[in-house]
Amino acid sequence: MSQTNSTALRPLRVAIIGAGPAGVYAADILTKAERGFDLSIDLFDRYPAPYGLIRYGVAPDHPRIKGIVKALHKVLDRGDIRFFGNVDYGTDLHLDDLRTHYDAVVFATGAIRDADLNIPGIELEGSYGAADFVSWYDGHPDVDRHWPLQAREVAVIGNGNVALDVARVLSKHADDLLSTEIPANVYEGLKASPVTDVHVFGRRGPAQIKFTPLELRELSHSRDVDIVLYPEDFEFDAASDEAIKTNNQVKTMVNTLTNWLVEEQDTGASRRLHLHFLHNPVEVLGEDGRVSGLRFERQELDGTGNVRGTGEIVDYPVQAVYRAIGYFGSAVDGVGYDGSTGTIPNAGGRVLDESGQPVPGLYATGWIKRGPVGLIGHTKGDALETITLLLEDAASLEPATAPEAEAITGLLGSRGVRYTTWEGWLALDAHERALGEAAGTLQTEAGPVTRERIKVVPREDMVDASTPAVRA
Ligand code: NAP
Repeated sequence: MSQTNSTALRPLRVAIIGAGPAGVYAADILTKAERGFDLSIDLFDRYPAPYGLIRYGVAPDHPRIKGIVKALHKVLDRGDIRFFGNVDYGTDLHLDDLRTHYDAVVFATGAIRDADLNIPGIELEGSYGAADFVSWYDGHPDVDRHWPLQAREVAVIGNGNVALDVARVLSKHADDLLSTEIPANVYEGLKASPVTDVHVFGRRGPAQIKFTPLELRELSHSRDVDIVLYPEDFEFDAASDEAIKTNNQVKTMVNTLTNWLVEEQDTGASRRLHLHFLHNPVEVLGEDGRVSGLRFERQELDGTGNVRGTGEIVDYPVQAVYRAIGYFGSAVDGVGYDGSTGTIPNAGGRVLDESGQPVPGLYATGWIKRGPVGLIGHTKGDALETITLLLEDAASLEPATAPEAEAITGLLGSRGVRYTTWEGWLALDAHERALGEAAGTLQTEAGPVTRERIKVVPREDMVDASTPAVRA
């Protein structure tokens, strides 16, 4: 992406690790910035396809959010950012390699695992992390194709949007998901699920939920699924009243919940989605090593929007438990890690060493920088802050010793890494769409359905489809 007067400009070679929204936004902002360098960017991802969280974290029945892909596609399709998929930083490439080939590195590795919930019984069979289930229904290449869906009654712990995603996907009839890009194994797994009741538990009150209004309202759109609420859970303290008064989102959601409580929701549907509040999980109950229930201590609001235990214990018979209590970032090879927040220690995006000093040339952005909170769009602000600092530092960065564009491809080739490229993604994308088209019009319980795309799941198949010569 040399500028016209590139011969006069100092090169600035940047590697970005992670091709999710955080990495692509950072790359885009960098290419558009006033910089006075001859810039080149290589964007790496451990998956053969780009888009990270959008491909592997957003629920399949959220096409509006999946639509962010269109904007990311435009950025990567311009041709001034090289994409290398199926390259695992920490295995295929290490920090020394990046130091050799790049002047600066931006880590945008996100947060993909579940936060821990340290209560007895959490390790029982039938107790799962929401992030793992999301990976399964989104066709993550490294997750077992088979997800055990034998439970009739299921508990989902947490009152954030991930809990809603998981509860919605678990309670929906599989045919109502067939118009989405779900892989065949996911449709078949959900189709065979005997589930009748999905219980979502929040530890605080209805005014302390972390849902967003659109996502909450969407629950009532599922066919043949009744929403069930409990009057004894509708408790509001002074802080709740204040939140309802001052925060439109809270007000809207409390109204939605109250309307559902007051209006008759029982339509005799074959499945029910229960929303419970003021339930703090204290133990996953088991029989023969398997989940048989979930024990809670009921809570009461303390006036500040927080809760305290009432001492009352309640058990729910469930055969599966999903904890959706937040994602957590994993340690990244070669840089520090804050185990309390799951982030890379940083100051505004400059990676810090153990003594709190910036490590020259290393940056972080997105969830690995600030933790797993906020919507996808918020990542843009992060990227802008990080890239501004990178450009402030750029003139003083240690130059790469092997900056040639072919050096990195040579290294990956010599290590036998079957990396994919942007052209490879275009081929895989076309292949997935062709699979969808080939399925034709399907007659389902939900009416006739056509499929825009069917996701390819196994990593090797993804790589093969990204390498047209192999596919042919
Ligand atoms: P989140 O919004 O932070 O919600 C986490 C929930 O878990 C909270 O209700 C929290 O309760 C609860 N929790 C935490 N620790 C707990 C414990 N020990 N016991 C019981 N409950 C506990 O996290 P998230 O749902 O993972 O979402 C992450 C981000 O992605 C959010 O910004 C979310 O909006 C976004 N997202 C958006 C969508 C969408 O469709 N728009 C979909 C998925 C995710 P407290 O409040 O009491 O701590």
